[in-house]
Amino acid sequence: MKANCWISPNTVEVTEVPDPSILNSRDAIVRITSTAICGSDLHLLDGYVPTMQKGDIMGHEFMGEVVEVGPGVDRDKLRVGDRVVVPFPIGCGACAACLADLWSCCENTNPNAGLAEKMFGHPTAGIYGYSHLTGGFAGGQAEYARVVLADVNPLKIESDLTDEQVLFLSDILPTGFMGADMCDIHDGDVVAVWGAGPVGQFAMDSARVLGAAHVIAIDDVPYRLEMAASQGYTTIDYSDTDVRSRLLELTGGRGPDKCIDAVGMEATHGAAHVQLYDRAKQAVRAETDRPHALRQAITSCRSGGIVSVIGVYGGFIDKFPAGAWMNRSITLRTGQCHVQRYMRPLLERIERGEIDPTRIITHRLPLSEAPHGYDVFKHKQDHCEKVVLTP
Ligand code: NAD
Ligand code: ZN
Ligand code: ZN
Repeated sequence: MKANCWISPNTVEVTEVPDPSILNSRDAIVRITSTAICGSDLHLLDGYVPTMQKGDIMGHEFMGEVVEVGPGVDRDKLRVGDRVVVPFPIGCGACAACLADLWSCCENTNPNAGLAEKMFGHPTAGIYGYSHLTGGFAGGQAEYARVVLADVNPLKIESDLTDEQVLFLSDILPTGFMGADMCDIHDGDVVAVWGAGPVGQFAMDSARVLGAAHVIAIDDVPYRLEMAASQGYTTIDYSDTDVRSRLLELTGGRGPDKCIDAVGMEATHGAAHVQLYDRAKQAVRAETDRPHALRQAITSCRSGGIVSVIGVYGGFIDKFPAGAWMNRSITLRTGQCHVQRYMRPLLERIERGEIDPTRIITHRLPLSEAPHGYDVFKHKQDHCEKVVLTP
């Protein structure tokens, strides 16, 4: 089959690879009908995740049709012919974390748990297409994928919603929603969102659905800010405006009630950074003078407010404003998304027309053009917001 593979920093390539097969009795094989490129894939592309290996299949946002199931898959849960969206974190459904609805912290699904433990202090869940740190599971930017624990994780789509309406249930819609959910939004809250990429846009939509009276989008990419403005959100271009001052001005001097960081590592590196790559010593980067989203969120948030972090971070960030955080009673919440917690309720919101996930799709490309998709998404060319690939 054809698959989009990581070759080296800044290079992905669509190549011929062996078809996946059932390895464990609870596996299923899914023929992929739609898959997408995520901001998290850019961290891999950039070479910030040192546990990628040449030939690894990319992609953790995918859906399709079940074409084979292992003998141990509970037939009441999944059968050949079912149409499914696959959540990016792999849960076992039975450990303490999964039972607490903390699916991305599953204790059982990362075969390289020791590696994750070294990085993060404790193991984290297996993730498709996200390097050997999260288990080395082949990703979904391919014609077929092996889905593990297939009777626990995939969401069956039984209505006639299109792929484009449900594909983002695999990751970025639940992620944006979790960003807003962690904010405990009260009617009338002002919510500021750093990053108007796909995750940020869904965090904004979710904040509004959950009762925010005023949503403010912060970015420096004009067409992404325009996309947010078209939904009725106030925008701040951080390249020509002092973000904290503007936020205080918009909130009677108190700051936003809730702040969401939908930027992550990019904030520390920036588009113009000088990046060296050394497999053994991990990625080494030169800090730029770009403002750091998380620092800004903590120092701008009103006292007693909540800062919710859904942007992905890897190792350490410098100059964490612990003083502002502690002295002003700010709550910090974060996590890789617990996708399985949100998939079904969000599917219902899509069915009721409360959220339209298709609004962010700007590029529809065949899988064979995945490298071009990465290029336009990363460099924000051609007004790219979200790329959907079809094998
Ligand atoms: P993206 O790269 O398209 O969007 C990031 C946006 O942030 C860009 O528009 C960029 O211009 C903007 N930005 C950069 N620096 C900024 C700054 N200092 N202030 C304000 N905006 C700034 O990516 P995306 O797909 O929207 O993903 C966003 C983040 O969410 C990434 O870090 C991604 O890894 C992460 N993510 C997390 C989860 C999770 O489970 N927590 C899931 C999916 C994605
Ligand atoms: Zn993702
Ligand atoms: Zn588990």
